[in-house]
Amino acid sequence: MVDLGGQYQEIKDQVNSSISQILETSAFINGPEVHAFQKELEEYLQVKHVIPCANGTDALQIAMMGLGLKPGDEVITADFTFAATVEVIALLQLTPVLVDVYPDTFNINIEAIEKAITPKTKAIVPVHLFGQCANMDAILELAKKHDLFVIEDNAQAIGARYYSADGTKQMAGSMGHVGATSFFPSKNLGCYGDGGAIFTNDDELAHTLRGIVNHGMYERYHHDVVGVNSRLDSIQAAVLRAKLPRLDGYCEARRNAARAYSKAFEGQEHIITPVTVNNCEGICDVCDCHVFHQYTLKITNGKRDELAQFLAKNEVPFGVYYPIPLHKQKAYEDDRYNEADFPVTNQLVKEVISLPMHTELDDEQINHITQLVIGFVNG
Ligand SMILES: *Cc1c(COP(=O)(O)O)cnc(C)c1O
Repeated sequence: MVDLGGQYQEIKDQVNSSISQILETSAFINGPEVHAFQKELEEYLQVKHVIPCANGTDALQIAMMGLGLKPGDEVITADFTFAATVEVIALLQLTPVLVDVYPDTFNINIEAIEKAITPKTKAIVPVHLFGQCANMDAILELAKKHDLFVIEDNAQAIGARYYSADGTKQMAGSMGHVGATSFFPSKNLGCYGDGGAIFTNDDELAHTLRGIVNHGMYERYHHDVVGVNSRLDSIQAAVLRAKLPRLDGYCEARRNAARAYSKAFEGQEHIITPVTVNNCEGICDVCDCHVFHQYTLKITNGKRDELAQFLAKNEVPFGVYYPIPLHKQKAYEDDRYNEADFPVTNQLVKEVISLPMHTELDDEQINHITQLVIGFVNG
């Protein structure tokens, strides 16, 4: 599904020399590399504060802790996402409220959010799924109207741009009260182990978050709040520093691969290609709204599972993200849910299939994959 070797060859000298230097100086934790990466990511995302941490799941959890959410508070998020999003809500004894998504963008449905808001609702967690932003204009407006926090789960969309109806352009993850991302190796900006970060423009919240990641310590050995231990280590920061200046190029390579896939699938009756919401139309020269963390098709003639088996037999990697709606997972079942409220997720889990997507895909590979898929689906 991903090929990280090609990227490494390009940054090898820089990464190896930075890592050697870290080994020589033993600055493994909180070293200058971490601080430098933090500043560079603040610059790239145009946010006031980046707080590096150990992984994307921690980033979400720490964001929720920093906002002071309390047990029983309701947090609305998408039914169709990776479990980490809902897991941290439940871990903090907040009440997850899962809602349906849109069939074209796979992102959280605005009417469904609105319907789910109660007096106990405290936050909305939009997940920018597969690399493109949820409808942030509508989410921010709802949040303002109902006095809710917005926590962007940006684990899959770092580098994506969002164009508001008023023409302003912002980076994914920088629009809510707080954003969270993951640097897991297969993410669009991946390190060589685990890593994550939290972003915010709020000075006070940033201060709170910096304490929480470090055992609730604001002054050495003074623990003002209950915190966690969540650090990005220097070696991971060195890898990320080599990759960050190349991130826009990586995103463009992914978009090129996505375009080639979609072109090959044009006119196919039973294969629905991913939709990019072109708020940017007329504003940007090259669409940068979608960074294609995944290239996800919908197979509409009931052959998705057979196609998966066929691809496996032909040694073409694929993924089914996600095969089970979160509201049907044992850990997150709740009597409050009504199947009639999840028509889209219930359908998507039967239709979606993601094809190999990374920065090193070439035309030959794409041809091979698309021919196999088309041949099978129509066969
Ligand atoms: C990967 C991912 C996470 C979790 O990130 P980790 O670094 O693996 O903890 C959270 N949310 C989404 C949507 C993800 O894709």
